[in-house]
Amino acid sequence: LIALYEALTSLGWVYAALRSARVDLEQMVALLDETPEIADAEGARILPAHLDEAGPAAIRFERVSFGYDAKRPILTDVSFAAEPGASIALVGETGAGKSTIGRLLFRSYDPVSGSILIDDQNIRGLSQASLRAAIGVVPQDTVLFNDTIGFNIAYGRPDADVADIEHAARLARVHDFIATLPDGYDTVVGERGLKLSGGEKQRIAIARVILKDPRILLLDEATSALDTRTERAILGALRDLSRARTTITIAHRLSSVRHCDEILVLDRGRVVERGTHGALLAAGGRYASMWLAQDMEEAERGEHGDAQRVD
Ligand code: ADP
Repeated sequence: LIALYEALTSLGWVYAALRSARVDLEQMVALLDETPEIADAEGARILPAHLDEAGPAAIRFERVSFGYDAKRPILTDVSFAAEPGASIALVGETGAGKSTIGRLLFRSYDPVSGSILIDDQNIRGLSQASLRAAIGVVPQDTVLFNDTIGFNIAYGRPDADVADIEHAARLARVHDFIATLPDGYDTVVGERGLKLSGGEKQRIAIARVILKDPRILLLDEATSALDTRTERAILGALRDLSRARTTITIAHRLSSVRHCDEILVLDRGRVVERGTHGALLAAGGRYASMWLAQDMEEAERGEHGDAQRVD
């Protein structure tokens, strides 16, 4: 009975948190999937969160191995280094382990062996709140609160004023769309409000991250088809956002990662190739054949130079 009471109490608490929706979504996700082994170390250090306060961060994965359970390794010996401001792309088939790398950086899980360092500090020694504040996530599918567009953009920075919100929306190429709505920034969106398209939601997520001003960006490229104009607007906004920031992109289209400083090709949790787009093409290996296959598909569909999924 006590267990039942406790379960109901914590459910009620989660429900209250959801209803008030004044919690950072990322923190809430972290809260809900909180596992006892992921806790702040004693004397955990604060990682500076904002680009304007500390500039872009350095990220290093050193021989990181991980499995969701002991029997099945998911990542094996993954190493890479991103200098402050650099861009790293993760490519490979579905299930190769790309998203898992993102989850480890966000510290939803700890590696089984190896270490992850930000600014030369193991993330195990950082406060989780500060780590998560320093990482801006643009997911494939953005969840919006049943609240106004203004609230949805600002909730990462509750002190943002109307001018800040509008500025972020302009940079995210979504202001013109919002301006066409009768209630503008006061339009209620989400399940019980105005339904937005995938591309509109993603641009709101970008505006959110612009306000949050994180030192690190984690982009999970949308796999769903967007029309070419929306696609261009989103890619343009993301390019602006990532220019000064250390960026890790989980890529589904090779054409969007051509300009990354380093591309890692993952296969069943191992990095099987790495380099720039040019170097990987010249090497004539896995990446080159993926690129060729994509080119052929595009030609078949009569699309030239347009983005294409690989997985
Ligand atoms: P990718 O992003 O490259 O598609 P993921 O990192 O999502 O790959 O998944 C890698 C592997 O880990 C897959 O085999 C997937 O089924 C498994 N996996 C992902 N999330 C979990 C989880 N929460 N529990 C157990 N296995 C998982």
